[in-house]
Amino acid sequence: MVTIEHWIGGEFTAGSGNRRGPVFNPATGRQQHDVVLATDADVDAAVTAARIAFETWGQASLSKRTKTLFNFRELVNARVKELAGIISDEHGKVLSDAAGEVQRGLEVIEFACGIPQLLKGDYSDQASTGVDVFSFREPLGVCAGITPFNFPAMVPMWMHPVAIACGNTFVLKPSERDPSASNYVAELWKEAGLPDGVFNVLHGDKAAVDGLLQHPDVAAVSFVGSTPIARYIHDEASKRGKRVQALGGAKNHAIILPDADLEFAAGHLTAAAFGSAGERCMAISAAVAVGGAGDALLDLVNRKAGEVVVGNGRDPSSEMGPVVTAAAKQRIEGLIDSGERAGAKVTVDGRGLRVPGFEEGFFVGPTVIDQVEPSMEVYTEEIFGPVLSVVRTDTVDAAIDLINRNPYGNGTAIFTSSGEAARRFQRGVRVGMIGINVPIPVPMAYYSFGGWKDSLFGDKHIHGPEGVSFYTRGKVVTSRWPHVSHAYDASLHFPTSS
Ligand code: NAD
Repeated sequence: MVTIEHWIGGEFTAGSGNRRGPVFNPATGRQQHDVVLATDADVDAAVTAARIAFETWGQASLSKRTKTLFNFRELVNARVKELAGIISDEHGKVLSDAAGEVQRGLEVIEFACGIPQLLKGDYSDQASTGVDVFSFREPLGVCAGITPFNFPAMVPMWMHPVAIACGNTFVLKPSERDPSASNYVAELWKEAGLPDGVFNVLHGDKAAVDGLLQHPDVAAVSFVGSTPIARYIHDEASKRGKRVQALGGAKNHAIILPDADLEFAAGHLTAAAFGSAGERCMAISAAVAVGGAGDALLDLVNRKAGEVVVGNGRDPSSEMGPVVTAAAKQRIEGLIDSGERAGAKVTVDGRGLRVPGFEEGFFVGPTVIDQVEPSMEVYTEEIFGPVLSVVRTDTVDAAIDLINRNPYGNGTAIFTSSGEAARRFQRGVRVGMIGINVPIPVPMAYYSFGGWKDSLFGDKHIHGPEGVSFYTRGKVVTSRWPHVSHAYDASLHFPTSS
């Protein structure tokens, strides 16, 4: 069993405490490693390393930063397979899905390679006689990232490539459930030529997070995780004057209209509900069948859900792996039970699934529940597992209303062949990311990612142009170079242009 250590100032360290957390292989159900859990002294060591590194990295030229970003891009691109294996062993997702998450992270690195273009300021020549005005953006200093278990490579990559390209230094506090991918990425940054201390990995739990929130040298906090913690992070960081973006949980609905290609819709719904065992913040967890679409759709989804191959993530024939922990399995199965008790109909049942050779693994099979009502716990809770609830409405407006009454607003989709219905949906729905015949509308890296309502606290979405804006602050310079000093009379009235 290996002890997974912090990465501070360009090297591994066990830190100062002796608390450890278990890291499981979800497919076997066995603990494979333990991970150090940071003390206040470890938090301070990581932030101090980042603060000292900022003195030089914050002054590094755009060309030096770009070169390092390009090197990093090449290294991540060359090691997708290795990184995918590390992710699969601790998270449980299948290798192809893990490689897909690294690919989406790579796209953010590629976006950040264009930082000279992204950081260009504005210039107004002769704003007043002999006076020019121009703007530019500067880095903030030490930025912290606190990330969830479900995308151990991609979600941190939404943050650190952009923060570092902007000239900041970074302390990443990844999920303690699958911490190894972050250490691997740290070594790639070093190999790419990033100076020690610019990127640090601090492992831990609530104590590490609270230490970062309270540290006076942390200028900004990016968080991705569940809604209660996102709200807490937002409040605690704001209270201390830190810049914060905190992305929370989700309950993503897909509307299926009777005019949709139902075979196409059912295939995409199945993939979006059960891919990564439903442990995606953009997974579809509620299918809203409108009018006559319901019964035919349910038949198709039931058949496709039953065909999903569930197994060890390392097995290339597996399409879906286990969920992350025994507690997650218990919670998900408990919510399915509660739906059944409340009168919903379980049409495909993944409870109690045992995978041959992996009997102790944390597996839950694809589950479809029909006749779900908005008052049921199985609907109101974010299940974060391979469970698709089917809800029925009579009209597209009632379906839009259902989505708008939900407290979450991360992603949503519509399946239809009507441009008019799609347009009504895209304009009427109060959600941040919208798919039209696209079930998981994760924006490309050059757009920004973020939900509305309880899915995001703070006013900036993550990566893309809003990411650059989040990790920098603006300066506007008004300048005059008088060659004949008496030609410009000083006056006590408020400056106006002439
Ligand atoms: P989580 O909220 O339990 O943990 C996220 C991070 O917060 C981890 O690093 C964890 O160590 C830390 N943390 C946990 N409890 C804490 C506490 N009491 N105080 C301070 N820090 C704490 O989330 P998770 O289970 O790792 O991830 C799943 C959740 O993340 C789901 O709700 C999912 O929807 C959400 N998520 C959202 C997005 C998005 O973009 N909106 C993306 C991915 C995941």
